Amino acid sequence: MSITSATGELDAWRALPAAQQPEWDDPEEVRAVTAELAQAPPLVFAGECDQLKDRLADVVRGEAFVLQGGDCAETFTGSTADAVRNKLKTLLQMAVVLTYAGSVPVVKIGRMAGQFAKPRSKPVEVRGGVTLPAYRGDAVNGFDFTPESRRNDPRRLLQAYHCSAVTLNLCRAFTKGGYADLRQAHAWNQDFVASSPAGRRYEQLAWEIDRALAFMKACGADPEEFHGVEFYSSHEALLLEYERALTRIDSRSGLPYDVSAHMVWIGERTRALDGAHVEFASRIRNPIGVKLGPTVSADEALALIDRLNPDGEPGRLTFITRMGAGRIRDALPSLIEKVSQNAAPVAWICDPMHGNTFEAPSGHKTRRFDDVVDEVAGFFEVHRALGTHPGGIHIEFTGDDVTECVGGGHEIVEDDLHQRYETACDPRLNRGQSLDLAFMVAEMYRK
Ligand code: PEP
Ligand code: MN
Repeated sequence: MSITSATGELDAWRALPAAQQPEWDDPEEVRAVTAELAQAPPLVFAGECDQLKDRLADVVRGEAFVLQGGDCAETFTGSTADAVRNKLKTLLQMAVVLTYAGSVPVVKIGRMAGQFAKPRSKPVEVRGGVTLPAYRGDAVNGFDFTPESRRNDPRRLLQAYHCSAVTLNLCRAFTKGGYADLRQAHAWNQDFVASSPAGRRYEQLAWEIDRALAFMKACGADPEEFHGVEFYSSHEALLLEYERALTRIDSRSGLPYDVSAHMVWIGERTRALDGAHVEFASRIRNPIGVKLGPTVSADEALALIDRLNPDGEPGRLTFITRMGAGRIRDALPSLIEKVSQNAAPVAWICDPMHGNTFEAPSGHKTRRFDDVVDEVAGFFEVHRALGTHPGGIHIEFTGDDVTECVGGGHEIVEDDLHQRYETACDPRLNRGQSLDLAFMVAEMYRK
């Protein structure tokens, strides 16, 4: 394929309906910003995306488990060393629990370093009789409820790129620079152990790991893998101008990669078969995820496979189901059955967050920890019954002790939600709830 024809194909989405795109006041400014992004250095390399595809191929074969998570919406002010370290620490702790207690290799993918744009169910937000455009993520407009802040500003796309670079740099440094060494498994827990049941349970497990490591060392084994972890970035490929501007032709293979993240996914609201998002994703070579909600039909899923993975490459396509605890046991079986009979294998992972959101009497958007656990349990039951592989979980969490989801070891109740409700979009599991979930998932995996 010549570079000119590849470029033409990369722009084919422009002729199709693109849902959830912000309207910008000044097209000239958008052109200037995307021209600048098109010259910017890549955030990830094509070879790294291929490596993640290989890891996801292991998941397809039933030999590994995905842990994908992070904020619903990252924010520019939240791109600090402390916040990134806390999220990463929580992700590493969850991964250790799953690897040790579940005895399975864990593919660690942050919903981090690029998750700055949000699809919205309503284009406007009404508060106290005032109507303003909805917040669409820091890449588009501001969270503050004022007309100035809610104005779409294309220059925010540049800031999203820079915050992604800073966040990814921290993640790379933390995961390769000694911090993620398994011998640090205790240190990640230090500030947490006394204050929480999940922390104490984790501490026990960290001691067991220490003993196992000491035993292995005494036997003369000290593998490289214990000294750092592979970490990958991902976000929803929502803003097509941004993703297109960050797409590069890989010099090794001549193929296009979206270098804004290792993996990108298409959301439940933008997965129309004849829409711009599916068209764009079909042209890039990164591993792709697609969210599937309870109304998806098996035919739609098969058509998505046809469009996004026509060559049946294992690891290329991951279906992220988000059915809701009440529906997963009914909606998932026929979907998996038809897909496994008729198409190349995909990785199946469970997002137990987005089908379980409700509004508390206080007006806070929240989720019940028990519903989250129940959806994951349903996911495991369905896969076990069909003999397919429950390939992982996709969650919204933070490393801080927020009060956004109810339940969990600390028993957050609806009246507590106001105490530390800090999310810019959907409610996240806090650190204790995330660790509790990891222990439960490890048990489900082992059964
Ligand atoms: C999300 O992941 O934050 C989201 C909006 O999910 P979905 O597309 O599944 O609704
Ligand atoms: Mn969300």
